[in-house]
Amino acid sequence: MPQEVEVVVVGGGPAGLTAALAMAAAGVETALVAAKPRPDNRTTALHRASIAALTTLGAWARCRDAAAALRTMRIIDDTSRLIRAPEVTFHAADIGHDAFGFNVENRRLVAALEARAADCPAFTRIEDTAAVVDLGESGATVSLAGGGEVQARLAVAADGRNSVLRKATGIEIDRRSYPQTALALNFRHTRPHENISTEFHTESGPFTLVPLPGLRSGLVCVVDPDTAATLSRLDDAALAREIERRSHSILGKVTVEPERGVFPLERATARAFAAQRVALVGETAHVMPPIGAQGLNLGLRDAAMISELVVAAHRAGADVGSEDLLRRYDEARRADIASRTLAVDLLNLSLLTDFLPVQGLRGFGLYMLGQVAPLRRALMREGIAPSAGTPRLMRGEAL
Ligand SMILES: Cc1cc2nc3c(=O)[nH]c(=O)nc-3n(C[C@H](O)[C@H](O)[C@H](O)COP(=O)(O)OP(=O)(O)OC[C@H]3O[C@@H](n4cnc5c(N)ncnc54)[C@H](O)[C@@H]3O)c2cc1C
Repeated sequence: MPQEVEVVVVGGGPAGLTAALAMAAAGVETALVAAKPRPDNRTTALHRASIAALTTLGAWARCRDAAAALRTMRIIDDTSRLIRAPEVTFHAADIGHDAFGFNVENRRLVAALEARAADCPAFTRIEDTAAVVDLGESGATVSLAGGGEVQARLAVAADGRNSVLRKATGIEIDRRSYPQTALALNFRHTRPHENISTEFHTESGPFTLVPLPGLRSGLVCVVDPDTAATLSRLDDAALAREIERRSHSILGKVTVEPERGVFPLERATARAFAAQRVALVGETAHVMPPIGAQGLNLGLRDAAMISELVVAAHRAGADVGSEDLLRRYDEARRADIASRTLAVDLLNLSLLTDFLPVQGLRGFGLYMLGQVAPLRRALMREGIAPSAGTPRLMRGEAL
C-alpha cells in the first residue's frame, strides 16, 4: 500500500528540511524522502531574515553555539590590475543592526533542522531516495529506490542540482558553467577574526574568509580548476602556508582542518519554479556561484514561501497542490531569484573580465560605495533581505 500524506518533500539538504519542518510544525502531514546526510564541510553565512525564520521554527537554538556573528564585511581588491578598487568596509551597526547574520557549519544546521523536525507529530522521515515520480491530475506519486511509494497532493522538489523531480515535470533549466572551482575548508588561526568577514577579490574569483566561533574560520577559495586541483592535493602544512600567503597573514598562523570540498562553479536557473503538482526549492530551482552569500538564503526564502502558501491552503481546507497555489508560488519567487542571480553573475564576471572599461566600472562602483554612506546602507539592506515579497517566516512570524 502506498503511504499517503498531504505533502512529500524530496531531498534532505537545508532547503528541503526547512520546508518539511515549516509545514509539519503547522500540522500539515509531511513526509521527507531523504538519504542519510552526506558529509558537508561548508559553512553558510545566514542573513538576519534566515535566522529569524530558523528561530521561529525552533531550529536556531539547536545550532546557535556553532555559529559566529558577522558584524563587519570587508572587500579588498587583491588583483594586480591597472585599475584597482579601494577597500570597502560594511558595518552592520551602520544600518542599526548588531550583525548582518551568522556563519554556521552546514552539518550543524542540518542536524538542528532534523532534530527539530523529528519533534513534530505531523513529520515522517523516510530514509530512501526517490527513483521515479509519477505526476497526475490530483497528486504526485514518488516511487522509492528501496521499494514502496509515497502519494501526496504536492511534491516539494529539494533534491538538488540534478533533481529527479524537476526532470519529471519537464521544466527546463538554463545553465552556464564558469572556468572556476571553489575549494571550501575550515581552519584554525592564531589571530582573532573579530567577527569580520573578508573577501579578497582576485583575477580568478574571490578568496573569502568567514568567521566561525573562537579562533576558527571557513574559507571559500575560488580559482581556476587546475589551481583548485593542485591546492586540494597539497598536504595540510603546505595548504596552510598557501592560505596564509593568500590571506596576507591577516589571521596569523593557519592550521587546516581535515575535510576539503571542491565545487565546480555554475549558474543554473529553472525556467519555472512550479508545475504539475511540484514546487522547486533551493538548488533544484537555482544554483549560483558562492559570492555574496546568497544561495541558501534564497533557498530558505523558497522554503518559507511554499510553506506559507501550503499552510494557508491546508487551514482553509483547500488543495495544497492546486494549479492556482503553484502559480502564486512561481510568481512570488521570480523577482527575488532573478535579481540575486543577476547580481551574483555580474559581480563574478566583473572579476574575471580582462576588459578594461568593465574593470574601471567595477572599481568606480566600489569607490562610490566606499564614499557614499546612503548608497552603502541601501546595498547592505538589500543584500541581507529583499525589499519586496518577504515570506512571513523571514519576518519572524509563525505560520
Ligand atoms: C563553497 C560554497 C559556499 C557557499 N556558501 C554559502 C553562504 O555562505 N551562504 C549561502 O546562502 N549559500 C552558500 N552556498 C550555497 C549553499 O551551500 C547551497 O545553496 C545549499 O547547500 C543548497 O541546499 P539545498 O538543500 O537546496 O541542496 P543540497 O544541499 O544539494 O540538498 C539536496 C539533497 O537532495 C538529496 N537528493 C538528491 N537526489 C535525491 C533523490 N533522488 N531522492 C532523495 N534525495 C535526493 C541529496 O542527497 C541532498 O541531500 C555555498 C555554496 C558553495 C558551493
